[in-house]
Amino acid sequence: MIVPGSALGVLGSGQLGRMFTIAARRMGYRVHTFSPDSDTPTGQVADVEVTAPYDDLDALQAFARRVSVVTFEFENVPSAATSAIESIVAVHPSPEALHISQQRAREKQFLADRGFPTVPFAVATTQGELASALARIGTPAIVKTAESGYDGKGQQVAASADEAGRIWSSLGARVLVVEKRINLQAELSVIAARGLDGQVAQFPLFENRHRHHILDLTTAPAAVPAAVAAQAIEIARGILEALDYVGVLCIEFFLSTDGDLMVNELAPRPHNSGHLTFDAAVTSQFEQQVRAICGLPLGSTELLRPAAMANLLGDLWAEGEPDWAAACRQPDVKLHLYGKVTPKPGRKMGHLTAMGRTVLEAQDRVISARDALLR
Ligand code: ADP
Ligand code: MG
Repeated sequence: MIVPGSALGVLGSGQLGRMFTIAARRMGYRVHTFSPDSDTPTGQVADVEVTAPYDDLDALQAFARRVSVVTFEFENVPSAATSAIESIVAVHPSPEALHISQQRAREKQFLADRGFPTVPFAVATTQGELASALARIGTPAIVKTAESGYDGKGQQVAASADEAGRIWSSLGARVLVVEKRINLQAELSVIAARGLDGQVAQFPLFENRHRHHILDLTTAPAAVPAAVAAQAIEIARGILEALDYVGVLCIEFFLSTDGDLMVNELAPRPHNSGHLTFDAAVTSQFEQQVRAICGLPLGSTELLRPAAMANLLGDLWAEGEPDWAAACRQPDVKLHLYGKVTPKPGRKMGHLTAMGRTVLEAQDRVISARDALLR
């Protein structure tokens, strides 16, 4: 067990690392963060902020020697980086779990090989393979780069197989994943944690709405039939076991209009859809990550009240500083800002969480609080 007072290392320095750090420091841990940037969302609240590129293996090893365990808040850390520190200090989740979830084709194949339901997909590494993959999967299809995509970046919709040439040159990637476009009834996520001793705990199912492929709103608990929730949780637990996972994992699901549940993707870390646990659950996803990687027993994942979370993107700053007091005027709304200096369209600057007697009440509150920012 890694006891409070020890130092925890985080690779990456965004808002996920910031909220992890807040949870860890509340429990008496110290936190060191490593990323190529300075004055970062994580660095502003950590004990130590190391600024160096992820391929500076000497700097990584020096960082690793000063902490008792390393985790990451960003999955595009090169696997050479985690391999370089593995011999010095424990890394949770494992570099292997990171490696699998870093690349869409590998991740989907891992899931499909073990019988977990995924969106029908095909992998293409040339323009010719892309054309035949589109013909095989059928259009409309969504073509995604296998690596480094987030918030819908690196994705194109193919209306017909004739578009292979255009998409191949616009994505310019070496490995592409072609997916059938699913008619979505709902997008759901399960955030679950597995401890060093194999104990598993999951939060209630979350329901997610996206705008322009970026998460916009999460509500909890999700309004889905109990059988769907049970199936999602069973799949999530199976994936944690299959990966021999330690830490917090998010599994994003699609529920089709036909009622089929499919895994969309995995995030090997706390996730945007779990931000509402910070205010609305007995244990937040960030505290759960601290507990899991330190070998402490997992905390209760019970939701205190129905809740909703709305993201605050940089677009809200288009006409100047948002009216924070207006959002805070709602007593059940919590404001979270990540300390990012420059607002940009599509950039996640913060979020609001609201609680209510019902999910709908929480949702109405969080939306009206966000609308009030611009008034
Ligand atoms: P990212 O890594 O950017 O989160 P995702 O694969 O999760 O990438 O895609 C982002 C969003 O785009 C999804 O949450 C969903 O709204 C939409 N989307 C992606 N793939 C599909 C698909 N095959 N069918 C329907 N919608 C999709
Ligand atoms: Mg996603």
